[in-house]
Amino acid sequence: MYDLAIIGGGPAGYTAAEQASLNGLKTILFEKEQLGGTCLNVGCIPTKTLLYSAKQYHNALNARKYGVEAQAVSFDYQKMQQRKQKVVRKLVAGIKQRLKNDNMTMVSGRAVVVSHDEKTIVIECGGEKYEAQRLLIATGSNNFVPPIPGINGNADVWSSTEALSATELPASIVIVGGGVIGMEFATLYHELGVKVTVVEAMPSVLPQLDPECVSLLLDKYKKSGIDILTSTKVLAIDGKKVICEPQGGERLTIETDKILISVGRRANLDGLDNLKVDMERGAIVVNDMMQTSCKNIFAAGDVTGKIMLAHVASRQAEVAVGYMLKLIPLQRIAYNAIPSVVYTNPEIASVGLQERDLKGENCVLPIEYEVKSLPMTFSGRFVAENEGETGLCKMVVDKKNKTILGVHMIGNPCSEFVAAASFAVRMGYTVAEFRQVVFPHPTVSEILKETANIE
Ligand code: FAD
Ligand code: NAD
Repeated sequence: MYDLAIIGGGPAGYTAAEQASLNGLKTILFEKEQLGGTCLNVGCIPTKTLLYSAKQYHNALNARKYGVEAQAVSFDYQKMQQRKQKVVRKLVAGIKQRLKNDNMTMVSGRAVVVSHDEKTIVIECGGEKYEAQRLLIATGSNNFVPPIPGINGNADVWSSTEALSATELPASIVIVGGGVIGMEFATLYHELGVKVTVVEAMPSVLPQLDPECVSLLLDKYKKSGIDILTSTKVLAIDGKKVICEPQGGERLTIETDKILISVGRRANLDGLDNLKVDMERGAIVVNDMMQTSCKNIFAAGDVTGKIMLAHVASRQAEVAVGYMLKLIPLQRIAYNAIPSVVYTNPEIASVGLQERDLKGENCVLPIEYEVKSLPMTFSGRFVAENEGETGLCKMVVDKKNKTILGVHMIGNPCSEFVAAASFAVRMGYTVAEFRQVVFPHPTVSEILKETANIE
């Protein structure tokens, strides 16, 4: 009998496994594909590795702006792909190494929950049965395939996983869905010279982000030749043709080499048919301690359908295991201070509340607020390293008590210092408290302090 069984070896599963086993719980982890899950194998890491290669190429092409002449600049996509695989292998091996200890058992294969009651969970994998006192479900999510005629069985239609594994670049691509995956792939392909068209159903791409930041990105992307069709529905796909209809406009047909579908992901409930826990909109319902409606069954990561990010998955896993171990009895996740980054070029990074959360029809907190806002060019380091680029830093502040509620930025490399803003939001810092923090000079991070300094 194991103390804890974990299904899924992504950021939620491997974080939980490491913490539980090192703290003395006899732990068993089931993984049907590769340790590291979506994030390491077909998500965060491979996309950012390819994006970095694309950025290097783009920078070499534009080196003249910095007084550097680079001649006959070219790239080899297969070498980029090989390097991506090397990075993934290295990181997966690192996770395997971290999970080697006397309390850990790892099983390769698809786990199926056979039965469960208040004392025991029975799991079957590869013809063997395993029993555990507790279960953590960390089965992640899958690409959502929308019911658009012509997708199924069409080899020219890719998910992000297929796009990542293709060894040849397409000549042109239509990206259906201008969310995070869509805009990161738009960046990758565009920087490598592929003709990119993004088709987004909503009035704007990246609709969940601060509109001012998104509009600065769009100005740049549209000028650089990416076609972005918003408020546009894809009606059908016919081979290499995408038939779409802009709201109130004429139907149009776009001929393209490949089509990427990136319209969201859904909780993966594979192997969980016999699980009797509360579900809502296809995801597992959990309380603040990541506990399901059954006391000995927990869930963490994308399968909970909350915020589908790797750092949320691993934090949820820490909270679940912390609760099982009674380490810190009441640790909770501060969902109000989760940073998020879109790895476009320039990057967009944000944390906390936006203006739209504080006013209008979707208001979640009806309070008076103020916005402090500065162009990124107020940072000397930004000017030194971002020739001809613009950027923005916005701080949303409670007007009455001056608490920092949210920070929204566009400009490289804001992904690297948004954690400082998360810290401020998490700890409930006021602007006056934040001003006392010393930032190293010259760094782009100083833009946070400059913005806080605005009276
Ligand atoms: P997963 O990582 O999906 O892991 C679940 C694991 O469970 C899988 O390995 C699966 O094989 C296994 N499994 C499922 N069912 C069973 C079963 N029955 N038996 C055994 N094993 C099973 N997030 C970020 O924060 N930053 C990013 O930059 C980022 N980029 C992304 C780019 C792309 C293209 C994609 C698709 C996602 C990206 N994400 C990013 C999201 C991130 O990958 C997920 O939020 C994260 O992986 C969720 O972790 P998880 O542990 O919940 O699930
Ligand atoms: P998403 O929810 O970010 O974006 C989906 C987009 O598709 C939305 O803009 C939506 O309006 C649009 N859409 C939906 N149906 C459509 C249709 N029929 N036609 C046209 N557009 C349509 O989802 P995603 O980009 O697929 O990403 C999935 C998850 O992966 C997200 O939750 C995201 O957080 C995570 N992810 C994170 C990162 C990162 O942190 N940098 C990178 C990639 C993915």
